Amino acid sequence: MAEIRLHQVRKSFGALEIIKGVDMEIRSGEFMVFVGPSGCGKSTLLRLIAGLEDITSGTLAFDGQTVNALPPAKRGIAMVFQSYALYPHMTVFDNMAFGMKLSGADKAERDRRVRQAAEMLQLTPYLERLPRQLSGGQRQRVAIGRAIVRDPRVFLFDEPLSNLDAALRVATRLEIAKLHRSMHKTTMIYVTHDQVEAMTLADRICVLNAGRVEQVGTPLELYENPNSLFVAGFIGSPK
Ligand code: ADP
Ligand code: MG
Repeated sequence: MAEIRLHQVRKSFGALEIIKGVDMEIRSGEFMVFVGPSGCGKSTLLRLIAGLEDITSGTLAFDGQTVNALPPAKRGIAMVFQSYALYPHMTVFDNMAFGMKLSGADKAERDRRVRQAAEMLQLTPYLERLPRQLSGGQRQRVAIGRAIVRDPRVFLFDEPLSNLDAALRVATRLEIAKLHRSMHKTTMIYVTHDQVEAMTLADRICVLNAGRVEQVGTPLELYENPNSLFVAGFIGSPK
């Protein structure tokens, strides 16, 4: 679990400022969803939190400790992307265990964690299969399993469902909600441009617009009290 604070976070690529002074607090154990139109900076913000990009100015802190200079591997973060990028020549088991090899967990511990995650994600019957022998939904669950076994304090998801068809999207979304509950409320930050995903998964939603925070609130707060037409339009409320 981790509380995450962003203070006046800015990010420029060359002369172009993409993240324009974001202030935000994500509570320990919270499921926070970032929504906003394509190109507004959702993925960039996630990559800054993960440490995959350096912040141009401002402060990022986990549990009160500034992590601006902390490399990604030391932040205790696991990230799940839209393209699951599994190793095609490795079994499901090995794909899930791979990240832990680097972390130094011994074989018995790796086995235990993989089997536990597989059980949680209903992947136990598929552990010896190769990725190409799985459906898209099963592959995305393997990618989620690979993140779980690393026992992160923060989970980051970047549009993890957008390559799945409609039925699988719903099933995997329910899986992710269940995961949040069963992982003793590990902090999760989830990026999507899908209002339904945002409304159903979030404890709170952060609406981003062109590199700035428009509004942060519970789904109900944003629906009932959007503070701008932009938010109303995005959340689908009648304002
Ligand atoms: P979103 O995830 O909300 O669709 P992104 O965070 O991917 O948006 O991108 C926001 C903006 O930043 C886009 O205009 C994109 O082209 C730009 N951008 C993202 N990464 C880079 C980069 N490495 N170099 C230059 N521009 C980038
Ligand atoms: Mg993106």
